[in-house]
Amino acid sequence: MTYVHETIVALQRSSPAQTEFYQAVEEILESLRAVLETEERYRRHAIIERIVEPERQIMFRVPWMDDHGNIHVNKGYRVEFNSALGPYKGGLRFHPNLNAGIIKFLGFEQVFKNALTGLPIGGGKGGANFDPKGRSDAEIMRFCQSFMNEMYRHVGPNTDVPAGDVGVGAREIGYLFGQYKRLTGRYEGVLTGKSLLWGGSLVRKEATGYGCVYFAQEMLANQGLELAGRDCLVSGGGNVAIYLIEKLYQCGARPLTCSDSTGTIHDPDGIKLETLKTLKEVEKVSLKNYVQRHVRAHFIPLDDYPEDGHAVWRIPGELAFPCATQNELTRADAEALVNNGCIAVSEGANMPSTPDAVDLLLDAKLLYGPGKAANAGGVATSQFEMAQNASMQRWTFEQVDTQLKAIMADIYARARDTAIKYEAPGNIVLGANIAGFTRVADAMIEQGLV
Ligand code: NDP
Repeated sequence: MTYVHETIVALQRSSPAQTEFYQAVEEILESLRAVLETEERYRRHAIIERIVEPERQIMFRVPWMDDHGNIHVNKGYRVEFNSALGPYKGGLRFHPNLNAGIIKFLGFEQVFKNALTGLPIGGGKGGANFDPKGRSDAEIMRFCQSFMNEMYRHVGPNTDVPAGDVGVGAREIGYLFGQYKRLTGRYEGVLTGKSLLWGGSLVRKEATGYGCVYFAQEMLANQGLELAGRDCLVSGGGNVAIYLIEKLYQCGARPLTCSDSTGTIHDPDGIKLETLKTLKEVEKVSLKNYVQRHVRAHFIPLDDYPEDGHAVWRIPGELAFPCATQNELTRADAEALVNNGCIAVSEGANMPSTPDAVDLLLDAKLLYGPGKAANAGGVATSQFEMAQNASMQRWTFEQVDTQLKAIMADIYARARDTAIKYEAPGNIVLGANIAGFTRVADAMIEQGLV
């Protein structure tokens, strides 16, 4: 379609070498064909041209000193993408491969995801090309403090409220918050994912994983199917994967795999949750150590992965939950899932499936929950944290979990019904993209050309 092509060409010219960003934009725009053809106002108000351009992009240097007195300089980012629906909201990622294109893809996706929750939050994303692996606590603290020395100017409880993401957990949020408070003298809800001791919300830690399972349950229930008793494949071994596995067990399902940046664990008896938590949350070591404690489990190192994909998706299972990183499920992986009898994919990570993998899953009529719908439980619960901070209240675990469940059901229903309205029943990608887009786009129109 020409406007998709024209937009991508324009972005390649104005923002060169941002492959993941073009991929995310193309995916959304392809879904909007029907709505752009019928709703003339979006073209009249140049919504596409405006929505693909972040309102603001901040890039800064982050100088810091390691424990041996060596100086390092990293690149810090905050992309404030769209504030039509509320303050910018989205995580911070610390990962050595991070670049402006990845931050922009994540920020762009966040805009539609946040809109889809129905909550008053805009979209943003940030981070740094910093590798926290192998760094001491003191080094992490100095890095976070240096990062906040610049970021405090741009964030605030009513302007921009970052959270964690890959490489940024409760420890990093603590150091970032401490430095913000020191610099501004204000104790306010400027970050989410905070410790339960000082302003955090119950269920925030679990929210993305739990929410992704609730989303899968909605997809299955819509077909009269159940989650209980099913074998599940999970990739990742971080925050999302761990609590997703926890919820799968609570629902009577059987998670057989998990993975990290060193390889994949296949435990035919079911992943031992306590071992996984100990290895990844406490000891912070490679999953290869899992097999020393559970002899029936196998470790598949990266070198033994198939050339055209990921070891997790080659293991037979009925449900798949990619929870590690972008583009970790290829077309060949999708083919293997389909051939092995998989019936549903619910994405905990952001954009984990490549575009041709998504096409294959949709063609094969699998139930497919795209990340921006299926993993929105994290940001929704972050908004609950903001609401608790603003009202100086504390909700119980059950209160937050009940609201999380309700919001995942709402997101699913909104995406499903929008897909039906636009004559693509069952296409949750299309439904989610259109439902998120129209909410943001209509708000932009009502707020004028700003
Ligand atoms: P964590 O940092 O807690 O965990 C990430 C996991 O994925 C780790 O096990 C890590 O391995 C593995 N991993 C990361 N990069 C790669 C890679 N390039 N190749 C293979 N494995 C990799 O992050 P989260 O669990 O928080 O996030 C996972 C995904 O979910 C991301 O896409 C994130 O954007 C998305 N997400 C997270 C939300 C949240 O609330 N946390 C909300 C919505 C989406 P290792 O342990 O070896 O580093």
